Amino acid sequence: MAIQSQNPATGEILKSFEPHSDKQVDAIIAKSERAYSELRLWSFERRAEAMRRAADILRSEAETLGAIITREMGKTLKSAIAEVKKCAIGAEYYADMAAQHLANEIVETNASKSYRAYQPIGPVLAVMPWNYPIWQVVRFAAPALMAGNTGLLKHASNVPQCALYIESIFKRAGFPDGAFQTLLIGGSKVEPVLRDDRVKAATLTGSEPAGASVASICGQEIKPTVLELGGSDAFIVMPSADLDKAVSVGVTARTQNNGQSCIAGKRFIIHADIYEEFRAKFKSAIEALQVGDPTDENTDIGPLVNAASRNEIAEQVNSAVQDGATLITGGTIIDGPGYYFQPGILENIPKTSKAFHEEIFGPVAALYVVGSIEEAIELANNSPFGLGSSVWTHDVDEQALAIRDLEAGATFVNAMTSSDPRLPFGGIKRSGYGRELAAEGIRAFCNVKTVYVG
Ligand code: NAP
Repeated sequence: MAIQSQNPATGEILKSFEPHSDKQVDAIIAKSERAYSELRLWSFERRAEAMRRAADILRSEAETLGAIITREMGKTLKSAIAEVKKCAIGAEYYADMAAQHLANEIVETNASKSYRAYQPIGPVLAVMPWNYPIWQVVRFAAPALMAGNTGLLKHASNVPQCALYIESIFKRAGFPDGAFQTLLIGGSKVEPVLRDDRVKAATLTGSEPAGASVASICGQEIKPTVLELGGSDAFIVMPSADLDKAVSVGVTARTQNNGQSCIAGKRFIIHADIYEEFRAKFKSAIEALQVGDPTDENTDIGPLVNAASRNEIAEQVNSAVQDGATLITGGTIIDGPGYYFQPGILENIPKTSKAFHEEIFGPVAALYVVGSIEEAIELANNSPFGLGSSVWTHDVDEQALAIRDLEAGATFVNAMTSSDPRLPFGGIKRSGYGRELAAEGIRAFCNVKTVYVG
């Protein structure tokens, strides 16, 4: 895959990059190792000072970087700027909390002193997707650097300018030269990096095939991995819910990031008693969304990332309809320049249809009707994925059942699934394993050393 920025709003190629040669990759890994030998000895205070400078840069350059994000992957400018500002919060969280999350933990044993210590392990490769091109990177980089590891970023091939910008931020913030570097390489060049002895672990956020490939190579090399993969999150609405709120949050949950979010609400599972009302309100709200130029303040949904992705979503909609689903609005390609797509709603997707089990990575909601919370949970769990889940009910028994029985890495009650640096983030089943953010995120790539003093 060519490493180039293409503006999804126009189709224009903005910039092409020569991929790094094997020799350049080797030099970058060597530099990462040298930076690690320095960073691992820095105190938490010193790392935190640099991390806070990174947060300041992110905040002060949010408009500039936001515009680059929008040009490279098409999300609305306002959401791109918000993404960069969220990154500043994530960086500050780890500047504040790393020392606490990684403090020695005394354990009483027969020893005169025994404890767990969290130590860094070295250069870590992060293979990242284009959909939140800065947030995905920062949620890896902030804990990695605060733990004393160094980062090698293999970003998606369509967001090289974002990749180089974030590299420059950590450099300007004062981390050791080489502590965080971008590798301009395609997916096919990842394997030798994973097999390189100097690279100690890998994290991948992206699709299942990419995750399976990285994990199997790391399995052969006995290296730890964290995988954050796809999702097809359930959004359950029961009769006691605040319906108007559930509708408006549901629309945001499905269409945020132009519909290209792993934790988007994708399957709307609605109780029969409120189904007709929910359907009518949801349909009107989806139809009211403004699709257009992502730099326009009034736009809700910009273009999809590229032609191939748009074709794939149109194809998923068509095959669902052929299998017996009903398309109740939208769900079609918008002609003209740019990769625009009319947000849509599918209803009654049969369980035998491929679309019932697949992730739809674009602004198309699937509606289902159920008769009870038990049926809603059963339907929600009838998916290969288990990333997030959202349940709307004021009935405490229903809430308790959903929290206990939904097969997902997160259950949000009367709220939209989202990521927060203070809470762990990740999935189960085919959505991956391991956790990012919170204490789990920073401990993921640490050696949990047992120390025993006799
Ligand atoms: P993708 O094709 O898997 O790309 C993600 C990254 O993996 C890119 O850097 C890509 O590089 C690289 N890659 C692709 N194939 C590879 C291989 N065989 N070996 C090593 N690296 C490889 O994913 P996408 O389709 O762009 O992203 C959308 C998917 O990501 C969706 O399923 C979405 O749900 C998921 N996602 C999950 C989370 C989460 O936190 N769980 C967050 C965001 C997105 P190239 O660009 O060079 O191919």
